[in-house]
Amino acid sequence: MIDLVTLQLLFEIGEMKFYIYPVVIKYNNDLILVDTGYPMFLSEIEKAFERNGLEIKNLQLVILTHHDHDHMGAVKELVKKYPYVKVKCSKEQIPYVLGKKKSLRLEQAEKLGADVGFIQMIKSVEHLDSVLAVTDNEIICDGVKVIETAGHMPGHISIFIESMKTLISGDLLVSEDGVLRIAEEQFVLDKEEEINSLKKILNLNIERVICFHGGEYKSNNLNEDLKKIIAKGYNE
Ligand SMILES: [Zn+2]
Repeated sequence: MIDLVTLQLLFEIGEMKFYIYPVVIKYNNDLILVDTGYPMFLSEIEKAFERNGLEIKNLQLVILTHHDHDHMGAVKELVKKYPYVKVKCSKEQIPYVLGKKKSLRLEQAEKLGADVGFIQMIKSVEHLDSVLAVTDNEIICDGVKVIETAGHMPGHISIFIESMKTLISGDLLVSEDGVLRIAEEQFVLDKEEEINSLKKILNLNIERVICFHGGEYKSNNLNEDLKKIIAKGYNE
């Protein structure tokens, strides 16, 4: 029996204030966390678990959709405190999660001359000593499936929960003011791949998307929404 709990974590820096949405997959008594939030966010995760009646001692696995600081930021802190928790990501993402290759986001930010604070934030991410690989279409447990959805980054993954017709989309899609949108252009490293990934998820029977940025989006016509998003692409 699979169930989902969407966590809502507040990120606040200066004037900026918004929420991010990691997701907990409940599989009988075991818990799987998809993405961890920013560096130093472990206490936020712990509080969110508590608010939702989830016990962190039941957390077995963290799945990272990709290595961006807001997704893997707290993972090292988490496994330091809870060493029984395993971590998985796609094969392409492994060298970045282990810090063996320079963060693609850092590379991009430096190239574009991004804000110093943003660069500092990326640099503050602690890397893991070990991580396990998942592959496209791999079943994590009971109809919980890995879907490789590159574009935002190579090896970015989403998680499809068949029984709930739900896609945990990482940064493949964002939900903004009740509207589902394509990932923000400036953070997409390969736009063609991004469109291909959206075409790929058209084949899935989805009625709900949980976006890391923006949270849940529900529709009985999600397929139509996706088709419109694909047709529009980045040609706005
Ligand atoms: Zn990202």
